[in-house]
Amino acid sequence: MTDAAPLTLFNSLTRQPERFQPVHPGEARVYSCGPTVYNYPHIGNMRAYVFADILGRTLTWKGYTLTHVINITDVGHLTDDADAGEDKLEKAAAERAQSIWDIARHYTEAYWADIAALNIRQPAQWTIATDYVPAMIEFAKSIADRHCYELESGLYFDVSTVADYGRLARAATDDEGEGRIDPVEGKRHAADFAIWRKTPPGETRQMEWDSPWGRGAPGWHLECSVMSGKVLGFPFDIHTGGIDHREIHHPNEIAQNQAFCCTNGLDVPANSGARIWMHNNFLVERSGKMSKSSGEFLRLQLLIDKGYHPLAYRMMCLQAHYRSELEFSWEGLGAALTRLKRLLAAARNAIEGVSDGATLAETAEAVTHPKMAPLLEKFDAALADDLNTPVALTVLEEALAAKKVDAAQKSALVGAMMFALGLALPEREALRLRPKGATITEAEIEVAMERRKAARAGKDFATSDAIRDELAARGVEVMDGDPLGWEWKLEA
Ligand code: AMP
Ligand code: ZN
Repeated sequence: MTDAAPLTLFNSLTRQPERFQPVHPGEARVYSCGPTVYNYPHIGNMRAYVFADILGRTLTWKGYTLTHVINITDVGHLTDDADAGEDKLEKAAAERAQSIWDIARHYTEAYWADIAALNIRQPAQWTIATDYVPAMIEFAKSIADRHCYELESGLYFDVSTVADYGRLARAATDDEGEGRIDPVEGKRHAADFAIWRKTPPGETRQMEWDSPWGRGAPGWHLECSVMSGKVLGFPFDIHTGGIDHREIHHPNEIAQNQAFCCTNGLDVPANSGARIWMHNNFLVERSGKMSKSSGEFLRLQLLIDKGYHPLAYRMMCLQAHYRSELEFSWEGLGAALTRLKRLLAAARNAIEGVSDGATLAETAEAVTHPKMAPLLEKFDAALADDLNTPVALTVLEEALAAKKVDAAQKSALVGAMMFALGLALPEREALRLRPKGATITEAEIEVAMERRKAARAGKDFATSDAIRDELAARGVEVMDGDPLGWEWKLEA
């Protein structure tokens, strides 16, 4: 292959696409803000990790040794992103009369199950916030004198002590823009934030630690600064999160990192603690089912219960660019599932013999056919163009449709592409899930389908129609003319 496309990523901090240049040659160190484990993640949250996974897979594809860290927030995240409200986990524990540790464990495991179901690769390390509290206290101690002040409610960071505070955010962070931040009496600036919150007198929390500023708990922003810096070292390469974090959480992390590293000025992006800050746009759902406070919200398990394979949701995410808003609909999910089935039916044997984590260089060595090599280049160029997965998917389909190509060449290319997108699944049958409420088994359906096929072959359309109606009455839709030969699906 002639040209590997330079990897270009959109940096929210400089607001432009930038060529990826690793801090440590040959390596890529990435930190992703993880979930707050007081409830199940909704599928919008999982979009953030599908995005981080594609970023990680692309870095691997490009030959970098990836160190990816995702944290688990089990303390410190308040019900408001700014400094107001209660700790989400303390609140959940009080409401359900349960131990906070049990709640955190339960929802962390549920989140990990979703990670696995979406074929998101395991990061090198999951950092659990409560494991890092002593390190957070040390970090806070080292910046307290020059950058913080104490109030009755805790230790506050003075945002005027670092240069360019709030540069990352799109919303105004000056006084006018801060209607959204609840005032705390004594704060010097509305945007100042607590890095340590004291337990109010007379109260006890399930999670609290001693500190030089009294017994209490760390602020959410402090956690990510400490875990990312401790594990990856400042400056590291890329910090990711959902677009909401661009407004408050990440500007506050950056301010702390600047204070800690004794550097100023964000004209040099690395002074922020990371060279590139990347943000995925939101998955939106018009009827409000994604709110965790609504009774039945959109969890991955709900999709599975309705008979959609979780990789259909992954496909849905990849069909949109990560920086575009993505609207959820059941029709859209159904279409993504169909596309995935079609892909897997055609690529059936391709993934054998290709390893997960195949790199561009390895693939280029194996794929030399004059029809296939340009497609490899095109695919690489799409991923390298700020992770343009919608285009990468069409190139994959183009490769699958190529005619008169040596089968081994085609497999080597298609298999590598499937792994790079995290779509490789050995059996397309695995995509057919039975909705939770279904009363009919796959075996019963297959028998009926065989009978129907025989009736149609004998031009006995009355019997064939009767079988279709019987199946419909039991929630099975027969799909005549399905190009996959998929033939039936259970209605959700
Ligand atoms: P949380 O558990 O609320 O801290 O969120 C976990 C991750 O999901 C963060 O990176 C959020 O920015 C992201 N996120 C939250 N809602 C959505 C959404 N609707 N679509 C995409 N990402 C989201
Ligand atoms: Zn974070």
